[in-house]
Formats: sequence, C-alpha cells, structure tokens
Amino acid sequence: MTVRLWSKGGAGADLLVRGARAVDPGNDLDRVVDVLVRKGRVAEIGAELATPGKTRVIEADGQLLLPGFVDLHTHLRTPGREDEEDLTTASAAAAAGGYVAVFGMANTDPVVDSAPVLEGLAQRAAAEATVPTGFFAAVSKGLAGEQLTEMHELAGAGAVGFSDDGLPLATAQLLRRALQYAKVTDRFVAIHAQDDSLMGKGVMHEGAVSAKLGLGGIPAIAESADVARALEVARYEDGRLHVCHLSTALALEHLARARALGLRVTAEATPHHLTMTDELVYSLDSNLKMNPPLRPDDDRKALVAALKDGLLDCVATDHAPHAQQEKEVPFEVAPFGTTGLETAFAALYSTLVASGELPLGVLVERMSRAPAAIAGLMTPAIAAGAVADLCLVDPRERWTVAAGELHSKSTNSAWLGRTLQGRVTLTVAAGRLVFERRA
Ligand SMILES: [Zn+2]
Ligand SMILES: [Zn+2]
Repeated sequence: MTVRLWSKGGAGADLLVRGARAVDPGNDLDRVVDVLVRKGRVAEIGAELATPGKTRVIEADGQLLLPGFVDLHTHLRTPGREDEEDLTTASAAAAAGGYVAVFGMANTDPVVDSAPVLEGLAQRAAAEATVPTGFFAAVSKGLAGEQLTEMHELAGAGAVGFSDDGLPLATAQLLRRALQYAKVTDRFVAIHAQDDSLMGKGVMHEGAVSAKLGLGGIPAIAESADVARALEVARYEDGRLHVCHLSTALALEHLARARALGLRVTAEATPHHLTMTDELVYSLDSNLKMNPPLRPDDDRKALVAALKDGLLDCVATDHAPHAQQEKEVPFEVAPFGTTGLETAFAALYSTLVASGELPLGVLVERMSRAPAAIAGLMTPAIAAGAVADLCLVDPRERWTVAAGELHSKSTNSAWLGRTLQGRVTLTVAAGRLVFERRA
C-alpha cells in the first residue's frame, strides 16, 4: 500500500539553470554550478554546461537552487470550503512558496474518513493540482473521536497517514487503537496535541501578554500534557507518532526523552512559531491568532535550537486559509489560523538564516528531505538522474507581503505588511515548471 500524490500531467521541463549556488546537503552539494533539466529530470550538473538545442537558459547568478520543499501539514479547505481555498489555488500558493509536494489534512467537509471521499479528492487533484498533492485520512469517523475509520482501506487508497488535526484525540484509548492500525498499514498517526480541559476558552498564550490584554490564556501545559500522554501511548505500542505544530519548550523536553528512549516519534514546527512571539498579539491583529498560539521568545528560541539539532524533524506550515469576513472580527472571536505556504521559506530565511541563527543547509534539509522521509515517498534532490523537484530563490530580494500578490484564495497571512528577505523565483515540481515569478 503505497502513499500517493496526485497532480495534473504535463510536459517535463527543459531548462538550464546557470550560475546558481546549488545547496543540497543530502547530496553534499554546496557550490556554484549549472544544472541542466531535460524532459523533467536533472540531466547534468557541472561548470559551464552547453545548452542543447532550444533549451531555455535561466541566468541565476546570485540565486540559490534548492531541492523543492514538502509540506506535511496543509489545510486545503477542499471539499466544502472552496470559497477559502481549492486545489488550484492551494497549488498556486505552494508553487509560489517553492513547494513540490503538499499533504492536506482531513478536517474538511465532508471529512476525509472513507475511501470514496479520498478517491473523490484524488480525482479532483489529478484534474486541478499543479503541485503533487497527497492527503491525510481521519483517525475517527467524522472527527467525532469515537469510531476509528477504515484505516486499511484508506491506506490502500493512498493516504499518507492518519490525523484528526484541527482537534485533539479525545482519549488515549483512541490513540492507542489508531497506532495499532497505523502500524499494520505502515502509516503514522499525526496529533494535534491539546488538552481541552486546560485549553478552556483560551484565545492566546497564557502569560504576561494575555494578562495585560485581559484575554483568555492557553497555557503551555495544554500542549505539553497531551504530548506527554501521547508519547506514553506510543512507547507502549511502539507506534509511529508525529507531533504536529509543536510550540513549547515543555513539550520539547518530553520529545527529547522519547528520542533518548528510541521511540519512533517525529515532530514538526511551523514558520510562525519559529519566527514570531506572543508580544505581537498586542496589535490584536486576528491574523496572529493561531492554535497553538504564538509563544514567548524562550519557547521560540527552544524551537529554533531543536530544529537546528534535529530534535524537531521538519518545518510544516499548518497553512490555514480563512474567509476575510471571518477574520475581520475582534481577536477574541476570530477563527484560529494563518496561511503559510507562500511565506514559509522567506520568513525563516529572513529571521533565522540571514541573522546567522540557523545554517541555510539545515533549513533546506528540514523543509525538503526530512518531511519527504516522514511521508515515506519521494525525496527532492539535486542529483543527476533525479526527477526535477527544485526551486530557485533570490536571497537578496526584500519584499513586503501584500494581499494582492498572494496566490492563495485567502489572505489571512500573519506576515501581511511585513518585509521579508529571500523570494522564490521559480519552482519545478515533479519535473514540470509550475511557477515562475515575472519581474
Ligand atoms: Zn492542529
Ligand atoms: Zn492544522
């Protein structure tokens, strides 16, 4: 039972990318080279390559050529809320962000909790998605937290893993059963760690800022207590657990212990938790309302350190489009979530790499090879013979995130109006040219 991605077909790209600094830590590559792509495959890597026939040349002096990014955590809003995002616009946003594969979460309407729903989505992706798109299936029917889905059938239909993301798993028993079935289907269970009793009606991180603003707080232990419980269950079942959007230093402590015990657990962090803090919420900008919430700088620093040393495996966007009228309400009542596909690399590059906090090679590996490995599918690589899954980034370009320039159907970006450094200029996904920024 293989994990599957779906996208529209199309001719393989023929391109010569000339003079970029190619950085692919998985292949020990970090040098200025020419890369020739023929019929959608990397044909040759070398100095001053000749251009066969009518091959188009991209002059890329000063740019970075990177393995394309993989997002394990996207909310595609399809089916059900195509007014917020559809598979065409999600692909456009992903391609503009340098992504060559995205995986949609199952909390759609209807929920992806049966093979027919998944197969219907797959058909739509095959007709509409330019960037290869895969899907999680739900752990529980209707995300109700009671009955397990037909996990065997869903894995057979190509689901990458199982998750009720958007909601925590109500009971440890549900997680236990899910891990057992996930194991026999060779899949993993991804959790949105959240203890509802501790979460209460909180709308932002519980701390000095929430106290000053008089807003309901979500304590760090609402996450860490649930992570601890899940790791305990995963240990008992020797199950493959993936922790979504980990945001606290407390949860990292539990993760570190699990790693030391040799558990098969992986974890992701989002660009917003890695680059922003709860101090920004003083603005009461509802685009800064996410779940888990933005945390204090000590947590953010701990996440960056964990991403650097590999305790955190990968970056995932938790791209969460919302209709404008739903977000244009007071902070307290706005829905949780920010979009993220188009700004992920630039946000991380400008905040962490340009400042010297994180080496470029580490960021590249955490956005491409590491999430691909968790999905168990393809591995973007700049290597002769490989399918071209690449993006080109201009690290010098400074740009201000503007709603009118975003490709997503929704504009609830936490980075709106912020100036970032580093911009994707071209993306080749599964051998096809899917994005090119026109000056
Ligand atoms: Zn979540
Ligand atoms: Zn999510």
